[in-house]
Amino acid sequence: MTKENTKGIGTGTSLGACALERLKSNTHLLILSIFSIVASLALTPFAIYRLVQGEVIVGLIDGLLVAAMLGNLAYAWKTGRTVLAGNLIAIVLATGALFMILVMGMSYLWSFSLMIGIFLMASRSMSVALSLLVIGAVGSTQEVFAHRVEQFTYIAVAVQVAVFSLGFAWQTSRQHRQLDVIANHDPLTGAGNRRALRREITARVEATRISGEPSALALIDLDHFKKVNDRHGHDAGDKVLVDLARIVVDTVRACDSFYRYGGEEFVLVMPGTPPEGIAPALEKLQEAIHERLRGPDGMVTVSIGAAGLNAATDPGEWLSRADRALYAAKSAGRDRICIDEETGSSKPTSVVVSANFV
Ligand code: GH3
Ligand code: MG
Ligand code: MG
Repeated sequence: MTKENTKGIGTGTSLGACALERLKSNTHLLILSIFSIVASLALTPFAIYRLVQGEVIVGLIDGLLVAAMLGNLAYAWKTGRTVLAGNLIAIVLATGALFMILVMGMSYLWSFSLMIGIFLMASRSMSVALSLLVIGAVGSTQEVFAHRVEQFTYIAVAVQVAVFSLGFAWQTSRQHRQLDVIANHDPLTGAGNRRALRREITARVEATRISGEPSALALIDLDHFKKVNDRHGHDAGDKVLVDLARIVVDTVRACDSFYRYGGEEFVLVMPGTPPEGIAPALEKLQEAIHERLRGPDGMVTVSIGAAGLNAATDPGEWLSRADRALYAAKSAGRDRICIDEETGSSKPTSVVVSANFV
């Protein structure tokens, strides 16, 4: 709860640093970016060449494929919805490639790199469906091949490529999920750890700067928690921490995220929550904690300090404001919510918070 606690969250982030941070932490976004950019760079000269040669339809289709890929990539960056964007890019590429191979006479060899790309970018069911479609459509079109042996060879090799790609993509995503749990979660409570919190705060600050989307952050600290440990031992204390995490996750919205900041202190980040939405959300949470959180001596309460995010707030400042509000909640007697009074203001806040008790 001290000011040092905000160390490591970082202050002042440039857009370039934010983008790099997102690429480092989001493998799917990285794959989508690499594939879309490389495929666009490879297709653009073909599109220009075809247009110059007077092959307007093929040139336009190539151009449309590039535009659709880059458009979907921009959507993935803006919204973070990489699964939807990956599926859409895969659909666009598969449709475009089938048209080019079956109608315009492009080499069927392109379908191999297409399938590998599909398995890397799209969801598993979408990848299987699109690969079957590509293999079925190309493999059953005799005119694409010089003779029957070549046709059967294509089908056999394409099925192998699809099966290997599926196995590789499945294994990669499984390992990625395991690594994600280890790298980004607190092993005791399952809440996100400080690394994950830093990333989420950076993303929220970036979203507010770019689109003005409001967000709120709440620091949640167990009251007199040391007594639980001192009287009943560490295991009893651990159980309270685990129970609190479960209650919070059960109560908040799916888009909210919950982190263990350290010890018995947690952070709840609520994207898209305007200043006037903070108190109702936290009151609901506090009600659930009152109803459900019990230690060996009965009811265990929490104090909550919250702060909204405005366009001028940097990550460290945002946490500091919530931290000061938490301090005010503790000083006023605990078991209460305190919201930083500058929340909702557009000017940077460095003034002492006067508590707004709910
Ligand atoms: P306050 O109401 O002012 O927050 O008082 P408090 O007792 O909750 O706070 P204090 O900072 O004095 O004590 C925090 C305690 O949390 C001390 C520490 O032993 C305990 N703690 C920190 N991490 C863990 C943990 O992982 N498991 C358990 N069981 N206890 C922990
Ligand atoms: Mg405490
Ligand atoms: Mg504490």
